[in-house]
Amino acid sequence: MAFFGKKTISDEASQQSPDRERLDNYLNLVRALIILIKEHSFDFKELEPDKFKAQMKDLSEYINHDRALSKIDQTFEKYKDIILKYIKATKEYVLEREKEFRDIIEIMSKGMAEVNEENRAFNDRIFESSDSIEKLTYLDDIRKIKGELIKHVDEVRKVVKEKQKKDEVLIKEMSAKVEALQENLKEAEDASMKDALTGALNRLAFDRIMENLSDRFNVSKKVFSLLMFDIDNFKSINDNYGHQIGDRVLMALVQHCNNHIRKEDVLARYGGEEFAFILPGATLKHAVKRANVIRKKIEEAKYSIGSKDSKNAQLSFTVSIGVSCIREGDSVSSVIKRADDCLYMAKKTGKNKVIAENDM
Ligand code: GH3
Ligand code: MG
Ligand code: MG
Repeated sequence: MAFFGKKTISDEASQQSPDRERLDNYLNLVRALIILIKEHSFDFKELEPDKFKAQMKDLSEYINHDRALSKIDQTFEKYKDIILKYIKATKEYVLEREKEFRDIIEIMSKGMAEVNEENRAFNDRIFESSDSIEKLTYLDDIRKIKGELIKHVDEVRKVVKEKQKKDEVLIKEMSAKVEALQENLKEAEDASMKDALTGALNRLAFDRIMENLSDRFNVSKKVFSLLMFDIDNFKSINDNYGHQIGDRVLMALVQHCNNHIRKEDVLARYGGEEFAFILPGATLKHAVKRANVIRKKIEEAKYSIGSKDSKNAQLSFTVSIGVSCIREGDSVSSVIKRADDCLYMAKKTGKNKVIAENDM
């Protein structure tokens, strides 16, 4: 457009003889433009809009008076700078306001993200701030609100941190309780698997382990052997020395087995004075060897049991052992039955001996 462009009215006026009608039209157009700029200028106090409007009014009045065209042109040049500067300042101002608003939104959303139930006070303050926000018009106000928000967000952070600390203590206490409960549960579980008198595993645990080992054999062919122990003439031990001594004999038997136990072996009380010793990975031959070592150790052991007849009374006992080893087509009960049959045979043929299934 020529108004702001290089080509000026004075060029045209000096080169051509002035055409009154054209000039009038031109000036009318300029007046209209000035009104347009005035009407659509932003009303930001900090940009001194009144001053700008007054300048635009001066310009209009100047044009309304019939001045020499060359003078009008010079005046335009001067006002052109004023108008461009005002537009530029308005643009920058708007951009700055936009940035401040964006900052505020970010501060608020960050703050809100940290808000939890305990932050009522913060919420109230946010509402107070919202009232101020509603009233704000100018950049300085926006900056004030931003400063306030930063302060409130800091407060919220403090509240959240305190809450977190409280929660941490609570969580610590609760996890300690959970840990204690887990320990109790484990102890209860362990106890439910153990024989109270001897500390060996009980029948329930034995059944489960046998099932597992049998399943594993079916998958991987990993063998295991089973030793079934029965104390010889135990009834007479009870009869002669009393039940308590009988109990101690049971404990002694477990102690002997424990002295020869590997970490993968399993010792369980099968019932009464019968015990089962499972040897994972042991072949029949290996199991028989180990059964004989234990049987011999038990036979050789002597226990002092001060009785009413003799202070130095000694007790010894023996065990009979039946041995089986899992084989193709076996079930848990067939492995147990073969060891039991061997034990029965050991009893029948003199006790204090080891009979393996290949002896039958
Ligand atoms: P055998 O040599 O043929 O095995 O004869 P035994 O006397 O050992 O066999 P029997 O089955 O006749 O006796 C087992 C006894 O074990 C009967 C029961 O009173 C006793 N008994 C079972 N459980 C316990 C226990 O926990 N403590 C004590 N002291 N005795 C028990
Ligand atoms: Mg028995
Ligand atoms: Mg017995």
